[in-house]
This record gives sequence, structure tokens and C-alpha cells, in this order.
Amino acid sequence: MANVIIFTDRAPKTMLLPGTGVGASSYNYPAGSYKIASVVRNLGLEALVVNNCFSLTFKGVQEIINNNKDDLLWVGIGSTLMFVRSNMFDEYRTQWHNSNESTIDLDPIFGGSGGSADSRTFSNKSAATEMVWSTGEIERLSKYCEDLNAPLLIGGSWVTYMRNGNFGTIHKNTHLIKGYAEQYVKEFTLEKIKDPTSSPPYIVSNSNYDSQEFKESSILYSKHDLISPENWLPLEIARGCAFNCAYCNFDHRNSRDSYKNTTALREELLRNYEEYGVTSYMLVDDLYNDSKTKIRDLYDNVWSKLPFDVEWVGYMRLDMFWADPESIEIVKASGARMGSFGIETLHNKAGAKVGKGLGKERILETLHALKEKWGDEVLVASNFIAGLPYEDRESIQETIDWSANTDLLFSSQWSPLWITPPEHYNIVTEESLTNLAKDPDKWEIKWISPGNWINSAGLTFEEVDKMCVEARAKMPDDMKMIRSIFGFFDYADLRSVGMTHRQIVDKRYGRLDPKVLYNINRKIQQRVEQRLEYWLQVKV
Ligand code: SF4
Repeated sequence: MANVIIFTDRAPKTMLLPGTGVGASSYNYPAGSYKIASVVRNLGLEALVVNNCFSLTFKGVQEIINNNKDDLLWVGIGSTLMFVRSNMFDEYRTQWHNSNESTIDLDPIFGGSGGSADSRTFSNKSAATEMVWSTGEIERLSKYCEDLNAPLLIGGSWVTYMRNGNFGTIHKNTHLIKGYAEQYVKEFTLEKIKDPTSSPPYIVSNSNYDSQEFKESSILYSKHDLISPENWLPLEIARGCAFNCAYCNFDHRNSRDSYKNTTALREELLRNYEEYGVTSYMLVDDLYNDSKTKIRDLYDNVWSKLPFDVEWVGYMRLDMFWADPESIEIVKASGARMGSFGIETLHNKAGAKVGKGLGKERILETLHALKEKWGDEVLVASNFIAGLPYEDRESIQETIDWSANTDLLFSSQWSPLWITPPEHYNIVTEESLTNLAKDPDKWEIKWISPGNWINSAGLTFEEVDKMCVEARAKMPDDMKMIRSIFGFFDYADLRSVGMTHRQIVDKRYGRLDPKVLYNINRKIQQRVEQRLEYWLQVKV
């Protein structure tokens, strides 16, 4: 019987165009919940991670808990990726509470034709971003767990970024863990074994995680995670980011944390290869190429020392490649297949003022160098922000047009500059605010109405939001089709069910037979259904 059950999921594929509403599920593995499960597993206990929980009704959730209630210590929710922007929550929650089935078909609810909002822009005013399992669902789950003497522990960014007061109505059996959860989960699990009546405080806050312990740590999978050799698993190499971009709300920015011990990393990769045949990874760190030493050390002591051809995808920065051109080849030889780059702007002043100061000329120079050395073997996924300080409409439009037509980029995703409005300050924590939100005057940004700012070039949030919708319409067809590949999580999702790198490149250039994509999409749905079927009956 499972000692711990953790429910988690990630935002469905709501980037579909209206009329293409298929494939709302994601397939890959969210790192955080598996890391917490590893803490439990390392104590010699059983942890079951249910990682497509959006597809369960309350009836399904009860079945999974009931099947494993005898030795249950606590139940968890990993909230980090459980936010969705949609106008269909009422429909979802009605089914969640009332259905006589164990599962919900997400396609009509969060898929494109179900009326869900465009997840990448804010133009649909009726849509909101919410935790899919909100207070009503958590309350019901919490009461259910209370009857089994199992506290409900919620961790992840929903908890970390929201002010404590917003949880005032949550049931007393619910406990919140803000920040890093590893150490507390270990302490509490041991305590609960000793004293079954023990209960955590309402809120626990951990902003530190022992650096040495992190460097030696890894994710420990179990047979109940249903891993197959095709899977692309998450891998943590470092925590923290040395940069401090003005628009970024990553709470560990501006902190250079050292990366994991290479022996521990190599052992993690070897274990996953030997036990599950896995050779592919999503690096979930905020930045892979933040140091010359790190890139070389990881190549010398991890990637090149494996008895299999490893492939991986991760976040990268162009300026680091510009400063260290040799690293372009090293990253390719290390097994990279896609880098997601926040290019943000080609406007020199805007870039320099927000922490992306490479400038247009050197950005293009570096992209050409990447194309020359990587060809289509390592793909460049790019993100842009419309509305950065000092950038005007003409400059943004020029970059949108360029990004839609250049072969230097595999994909381009445009988002309007989001600044938390002052009206939200009573909801969110200080750590969740970007530097721009904390001090908009410094970047000459003014609030002109609730939720709408204006920059010094005269552009408002509402205008750039519309520009982003129009930018999407300009992108090549392959970026508008089902299963659009905007970044490396999308890439890994598709590779995890058997789509090849070549087919993904062919999709980009409009050469892929649509049947391939249709079949891959069906395969994701089938795999998710198979997983749910397994989790609904397994007694761990
Ligand atoms: S945007 Fe990326 S590089 Fe900049 S601070 Fe945030 S995580 Fe670091």
C-alpha cells in the first residue's frame, strides 16, 4: 500500500487554434512531484505519483486513495504546473464533483474547440488563470483525507507565490509548504510514522535547501511511474540563476548556485538507463549555459562518459554562446537537441535595460553561428516579449515579421509583457514580483487603468496583447497546428511517444504528413488513458 500519494499535472495544451480541440493532455513528467516522491522512497517507503490528475473526477481520486489507504501517511498536491488559463472551469468542476465516471475527457473542456482561452495571451477577457483544483476541490479532498488520518500537503508555486491570507478558507486538514519542500517532507514523514496523530503546521516555509544535499540528490523512479525507454525524463542540474532580468519572477534569480556533483548526476543517468532504458532528458534548470566551466565539466564528466547516446533539451542564453563560441560545439556534443532561448527583443535599448543586452547585431551573429554549427540537429526555440520598456510598435512589428520568416529560429513564441498590477499585491507574495512590478517608474512605465500600463514609447499592455495574437497568425502553419512545438517541453512530449527528431524538423518546414501528427496525438491520449487505468486499480 502506498504510504504517500501525490497528485499533480501540468497545463493542458491550450495553445490550440479554435476548431482543433484535440490533445489536451500532456504526457511528460513534472520534476517537482517526483523529487518529493524520491524523498519518501529514499526512506524505504512507497510513494505513488499520479501525474495526470486533471483527468480524474473526485470519484477517481477517491478510488486511488481507497485502494491505498491502509498504510497511508499523507496525500500531496504538486501545484507548480497546475495553473491553467481558461473560461471553462465551471464545466470542469461540475464534472469533477458530480460525475459517476472516474475520469474526465479534457479535450472538450481545455482543448481549442471547447472555448478555452489562448494560454499565451490575455485577450480573452472572460478567461482567468487558476489552479485547476481550486478551493472547492481541495476542501473536498482534504475532508476525505482527514477521515483517513492523512494530512493533505500542498507544495509548489501556487502556494509559494500566493499570500498566506488567501488560504484562509481552506480546510483545516490542508497544510501548505512554501519554497523547497524536500527537507520538511522528510522530517514530517518520519514524525508521522513515530506518532500517527502528528500534523504539520498550517504553513511551513523553506527558502533554503542544503546545498550539499541538493548536489548529491536525484530523482528516484519506481515501477509505478510507468516509465518506458522512449520517455524524456526531467533532470535537475542546478538551482538558481546568475542573472536578474527585470521581467523575470523566478525567485532564485540573481543567485549563482553551484551545479550538482557530476558523479551523482552520472549515476542518476546510468540508473535510469539500466532500470528503464531511458536515454533522453528535459533539463528543468532555468539556464544550462551560465558558466564556461560548468559546460565543460558536464561534458567531460557526465555526457561523454555514458554508455549510450544521450539526448536532452534545456534553457540557454545567446549572450553566453556569443562570449564563448567554443561552447556551441560542446553543447551539441553533449547531446542537446533543442535550446529554448529568451531572446525577448531586438531593440538595443529595451534589451539592455531589462537584462538582455547583447543587442541586435550580436544576436543575429550568434544565431547564424548556431545555425552554422548546429544545422537542424539542435533546434533553436525562441521567446519574445512585446512591450518591453522603451520599445515602440514599429520595432516590435519588425521583429514579429522577421521571427515569422527566418530559418534561424525553429519556433517563435510572443507574449505581452506581464507586470503584476498593484490591485493584485494583496494576493501575491513579494517574491513573485518582477523588478519591473516593484519599481515601474525606474523603467518609465505607468499604470493608466487597472491591468493596463503604458511604456515610454506610448504602447499599452492592451495594444501589445493584440499584437501577440496577430503575431501568432503570422507564424508558419506548423506553429498553428495541433501539438505546436513552441519550446522544449512540447518537443519532449512528442519525442516521448515516438515522434523522431527528423519528423519534428519536417513538421517545422511543412513536410510532415498530417497523419503522423494525428497518430502521435492519439498515442499521447492513449498513453494517458492507460496510465489512469493503472493508477485507478493499483494497490502499491
Ligand atoms: S529570465 Fe532567465 S536568465 Fe533572466 S533572470 Fe530569469 S531565469 Fe535568469
